[in-house]
Amino acid sequence: MPVGYSARCRVCNSPHRVEIEQWCKDEGLSPRAAAARLLERYGEKITHVTIWRHMQEHFDIRAEAREQYRKSQEQMQTSVKKCLSDLQMLDSIAQDSYELHQAVRAWLADLIKERGKIPRVLVELLAVTASEVRQQLKQKAELLGDDPVSRLADGVATWAELVQAAASDEDE
Ligand SMILES: [Zn+2]
Repeated sequence: MPVGYSARCRVCNSPHRVEIEQWCKDEGLSPRAAAARLLERYGEKITHVTIWRHMQEHFDIRAEAREQYRKSQEQMQTSVKKCLSDLQMLDSIAQDSYELHQAVRAWLADLIKERGKIPRVLVELLAVTASEVRQQLKQKAELLGDDPVSRLADGVATWAELVQAAASDEDE
């Protein structure tokens, strides 16, 4: 049972208990090395077997687990920040592509109105920008784990494919 304290344990009753635990836990000292350091530093003699048993049986593993959890929370927040900056970069790239895509789209609409015919090269550009936007939206969806964004990305693709199909008809 790894719980806190034993009246018979010399480590539990040592004034250096916290330090001994830190040596073993944080510095990774072996029980033998911890025993040697304890003797050298404080002249206190506890066998490495006793230290080993203390770490197995009396060391507060739950407090340690909380500490590890707190550390992993901090790490998680760091990776969330990293994810956010990736998203911001992706957003600005996506915005460029999206604006270009919208521009091509508007241009196409004008051409259709004026001439009733779509130049293939423009349709291809539309498809390329659409696929760039789709790619970026999908990347964003992956970063966010967000399905609606993914569906929106598919919507862009569908629209571009429709226009492309219409353009192919126009050419014939
Ligand atoms: Zn102990």
